[in-house]
Amino acid sequence: MTREARRYVLAAAVVAALGTVWCVAHLTVGAGTEAVAYAFAPAGGVFATAAVFRLLRTGGLRPVARRFWRTMLAAVALVSFGYAWFATDILVHWTEAATRRMPLPAAACAAIGFLVAIWAMIRVPVVPSEGVEWWRILLDRTIGFLGCAVVLWYAGLAPMIGAADPWSPQAMVLTGLGLLVAVGAATKVSYVAGGPVDRDAIRLMAASGGFTAAIVTVIAVRLGPPGAVPAQAIVMPLTPLLATLAVWVQARADAGLRHRPGRSGVLLPYLAVAAADVPLVAVALGAPLSWPSRVVLLAAVVVTVLVTLRQYLAFRENNRLLHSTRVQEERLQYEVSHDGLTGLANRALFRDKLAAALASGEPVHVLLVDLDDFKTVNDLLGHGVGDHLLVSVAQLLRAEAGPHSLPVRVGGDEFAVLLTGPRAEPEALAARLLAALDRPISEHRLLVQASIGIAAAGPDATVDSVLRDADVAMYTAKQGGKASFVRYVDGMGEPVLAHMRLGGELRRALDDDEFRVVYQPILSLYDGRVVGVEALLRWHHPDRGVVGPGEFIAAAERTGLIVPLGRFVLRETCRQAAVWLRRFGPHALREAGLNVSARQLHDPDFVADVTAALAESGLPNERLVLEVTESAVLRGQQVSRTLHELDSLGIRLALDDFGTGESSLSLLRAFPAAIVKLDKSFVDGIEIDDGRPAAADARQAVARAVIQLARALGLDTVAEGVESAEQAAVLRELGYTLGQGYHLAEPLTAEGVTELLARQQSMATAGLVRQGRAAPGQGPGVAAGVADGSTSVL
Ligand code: C2E
Ligand code: CA
Ligand code: CA
Repeated sequence: MTREARRYVLAAAVVAALGTVWCVAHLTVGAGTEAVAYAFAPAGGVFATAAVFRLLRTGGLRPVARRFWRTMLAAVALVSFGYAWFATDILVHWTEAATRRMPLPAAACAAIGFLVAIWAMIRVPVVPSEGVEWWRILLDRTIGFLGCAVVLWYAGLAPMIGAADPWSPQAMVLTGLGLLVAVGAATKVSYVAGGPVDRDAIRLMAASGGFTAAIVTVIAVRLGPPGAVPAQAIVMPLTPLLATLAVWVQARADAGLRHRPGRSGVLLPYLAVAAADVPLVAVALGAPLSWPSRVVLLAAVVVTVLVTLRQYLAFRENNRLLHSTRVQEERLQYEVSHDGLTGLANRALFRDKLAAALASGEPVHVLLVDLDDFKTVNDLLGHGVGDHLLVSVAQLLRAEAGPHSLPVRVGGDEFAVLLTGPRAEPEALAARLLAALDRPISEHRLLVQASIGIAAAGPDATVDSVLRDADVAMYTAKQGGKASFVRYVDGMGEPVLAHMRLGGELRRALDDDEFRVVYQPILSLYDGRVVGVEALLRWHHPDRGVVGPGEFIAAAERTGLIVPLGRFVLRETCRQAAVWLRRFGPHALREAGLNVSARQLHDPDFVADVTAALAESGLPNERLVLEVTESAVLRGQQVSRTLHELDSLGIRLALDDFGTGESSLSLLRAFPAAIVKLDKSFVDGIEIDDGRPAAADARQAVARAVIQLARALGLDTVAEGVESAEQAAVLRELGYTLGQGYHLAEPLTAEGVTELLARQQSMATAGLVRQGRAAPGQGPGVAAGVADGSTSVL
């Protein structure tokens, strides 16, 4: 419709242009008779009527707009018909004398048309209001109407009526009505919300009557007879032209090409008062008045101006306050629904949007993105860098997710993307995200990876079920070696849930006292004497029997239960070691070790726990060994401080599983280690001699390097996982003095160790064990196991 409406505008404009051309031609070269001047208005009127008719035919209008334009169609048609009648009348009965008198029926026609137009305007609904607000709007509109009317009366109608050569009553009534349309519309349109009838369309319709009437008045008053009639050719076609423009504007608004928010005529009353003051001033200065009356009039004008100004200032202030409360409200709204650090939507908004998307019935996908090892970054480089990283990831998410999805920070290092619509490609997005994360991000050039879980909402999905599925998928991605994405499929939840259940069961087991500590002896590779023990956890499960730490330590670490569990091992080991010390004396068992996980080192109470356990048991500090892995040591400043504190207390620290992590010389020097434990993987196969000395050498290279390093730094060494006499022999050759492994001794209960120590003591008293004398593999007791190749000392 907009294109068609534009054609009507063009047609009406052409008529107006022809009128102008004719007027100029008539006044300069005297082309045609004056009567022609009256022909242009009805010609334009045909197009205006047709335009409104077409607009109504399109059917896109809302009811209120339809009613307005239907009434307007009648108005435009009536006015156009009235002027067509007038033009015909003039052209048919043309004589120079009988110029301007409009036939009464034609004038009545046009007048009814104007009244209908006013009626149409009255019926356009204004901003709904009640109470004081209703009265305010009524007052504002009355002020506006009176102000405008005074000006038009003073500058237009009054001089016209009082002119020496007055116009016909018909012309004056019509001009007056045209002005009324304009003033009425002006005071009305300010209070019309941006509703179905376009505000600018109303303005143009008002101008269509009012503007031309105003020009006619000016011409009548100022120009006088010679040019007045030909000027009609220019002025009168403006009415239909403006009407076609109004139709075009309305058509554009309906096509959604224009949007103007509603504003309720705030400035109108002020302008109206100022306008009414203009004729007042003119009267005060121009009319023959006594000077006291003049002063009174001028003073009244000044007072109205000042009051208006004051009102206006108050209005501005109110507006400012209103604006600032609105801004504050919006900010608050934003803050409760967005994450402060990254600016992404937060969990609450995410849930709301997800619920809305599910309710709408369109396809919904959720991507759950969890950064791998973010905690390490935070611990090693500090929270500032961690925050920076999160912000960078958020930016990346925003960029990759695109405009039709909602990126979210669910909390901590967990993000999400909500995808809606049938064209969403969650897998493609996940792949893009992983690829983007593959490049170093933020100025710290950090490499982070993420595990992504994808869930699609099924037919009766709920917010919680979708999130749980995405969680399970993400968890599965993490289990299957990080930096990957997994889409949820039915049945995927079971193993994951079992894992999660394990956390709960561990807590129960701890309360029910189902954990036990076993001790694996550490022996001298030379004389087979027991030098120390390592405490290892066992779970005596009521149904599953004895469960090894491999099956539950990870879950305990994740749930944080490792802290109370570790505390239990610590107290138990100290207590037991103190018992052995009292019973067998200081030479029987040099030390007792236990494993400490990274999570425990982060616990601010850890050092206090250790000292308390030592104090309660009476075990001297230097007899306790805490085994930590390299990766646990590399956990930032707090861990480092804890380790140094323990070291300064005389507690010995052992680097467990040495050689498997990022072992480096600098780590060994920075970390206050007393012992390194060569990992089992370097002991495996160390004895194999396949006739190629170079190959055997290669296997031994690491073991040799470690012992050399340890010697250079003055550290003790323990070879782990010694499973055969041959391995023990090779290790001895390489210079290792202590070993741990099934071949030397399996983990034993406390009673088992007591028996072993008792046996060792009785042999010592019998003089069989003499330090430094026993040949390799020939020690008694435990060493007997070494010699005869059996795998147990019992
Ligand atoms: P780890 O600290 O390296 O402990 C040595 C593990 O090797 C023990 O397994 C031990 O039974 C096993 N082992 C000893 N000699 C041999 C051998 O000759 N051959 C083989 N194949 N294995 C041998 P376990 O008891 O299953 O413990 C596994 C891991 O669980 C431990 O590795 C340790 O990292 C962790 N762990 C055990 N107890 C605790 C604890 O109380 N706290 C913490 N945080 N971790 C613990
Ligand atoms: Ca260990
Ligand atoms: Ca180990």
